[in-house]
Amino acid sequence: MTISAIAAVPALESVDPLVEAISPEFLQLMGWDPQVRLLFIPRDHPQFSAPACLIEGCSKMVYYAFQQGLCVGCMRRWETSGQSIEEFTGTAKRYWRAIGEVICGVPQCARPSTGLAKPLCSSHQYQQRRVYKISVEEFVRHPDVVPLEGFGICHVAACHRQRQSPTGYCPAHAQRRRNAIRQGTLGDEDHWRRTTNGIPQHGVVSLRGLPDRVVNEILYGLQERVREGVMQKDYLLRPFCDQARSQQIATLTEVDAGSFSRHTRHIASGFLKHLSRFGLSPETERHKDIWSGYAFGLTGSLYFDKITQSWLREATKAWALDDIPKRRGKSKQTIQSHINAIVQLSDSLRLNRPDQGVDVRAVARDDITVFLTRLRFLNEQDTISAYQHVRMVRYVRRLLNRMRTLGLARPDQPLHGLCETFVLGPRTFRTTSRTGKPARTFRSK
Ligand SMILES: [Zn+2]
Ligand SMILES: [Zn+2]
Ligand SMILES: [Zn+2]
Repeated sequence: MTISAIAAVPALESVDPLVEAISPEFLQLMGWDPQVRLLFIPRDHPQFSAPACLIEGCSKMVYYAFQQGLCVGCMRRWETSGQSIEEFTGTAKRYWRAIGEVICGVPQCARPSTGLAKPLCSSHQYQQRRVYKISVEEFVRHPDVVPLEGFGICHVAACHRQRQSPTGYCPAHAQRRRNAIRQGTLGDEDHWRRTTNGIPQHGVVSLRGLPDRVVNEILYGLQERVREGVMQKDYLLRPFCDQARSQQIATLTEVDAGSFSRHTRHIASGFLKHLSRFGLSPETERHKDIWSGYAFGLTGSLYFDKITQSWLREATKAWALDDIPKRRGKSKQTIQSHINAIVQLSDSLRLNRPDQGVDVRAVARDDITVFLTRLRFLNEQDTISAYQHVRMVRYVRRLLNRMRTLGLARPDQPLHGLCETFVLGPRTFRTTSRTGKPARTFRSK
């Protein structure tokens, strides 16, 4: 075989099921391009929309009534203006800093302008002022002025803006870096590049600078939250993504929400909920000792972990697997009550058998008697009520019988070798009232 023949074999492609679960329609809704890695908030989608700010030219959204129809930025400006709300909304213009990246005004020039209020990149500004000595309007139309190639994207991982020099940053990050140096907070510059936030841009959330795994987790979580009907706000989503970047996590499950605001913590738990449910099925859950009810259409969890004998625990799980689909509605509590009755049986075996009940072939009729005596004792001690007492006996009888009819005593099954006498037959038993006298005789079914 030649080397080229070996090389021609296509590599096995491993497809991440999480990626498969993100629909192309959702990616389209968010304007997602895997090369660009920006989420564009779809303002015409009801779960992403809110009325626009009243200030002319400002397109930010207004989420709360107390904002008086102004976005947060414009509201702060109004509060310091001393004007009435009517005066302010009638006269104020969009705040300059609300605008995103400004690119040089020379047609097709790829470089950023030198400042938000300056229309030309530094090279063209130099030519305009020092060489041509004409107005900006004349300069950009001048036939000898040629557009310049960009220097590439800003070196801050989160940023998608053009940098203003061959080696540096976009104007906004260059400014932020100068501030950080002045305040002594820059630290290791390479680390700063990887962790500092992008420049906030209205309606855009940057997932740049995050590992693929985290990007896919955010896309999937957002998709599921939208499906759930949750309202999405970019000004809350953005800090969450920024925190994920600044913590340099490899997966969202590593996120440390300790320093988060209440809102961001809430968003984080929403994303984590969807991730923890992802890929769950009865097949994945049945091997665990605590089951996520979600895999079975239930809320909360089912706990088998307190059943210490593996044969009894596995048989109880097998019963639950058989039982859950037969129930309708919110039945988790009933199932857990059955499991808890077996936990009592497990406790009794562990406390009373020399081998703690580990050997399935060693338990027999006597252990049932000890168990019933123990329940009566717990009832007398008021540890369990008369009602719980009756119910536990009934549930254990039902489950031990059902486990046998499910074939769990056959070879290769958890109860193989279990003595035929390890059952609860129909019989009456007494509970004791608080006064110590026999209270009531129950005929258990
Ligand atoms: Zn505004
Ligand atoms: Zn230019
Ligand atoms: Zn930048």
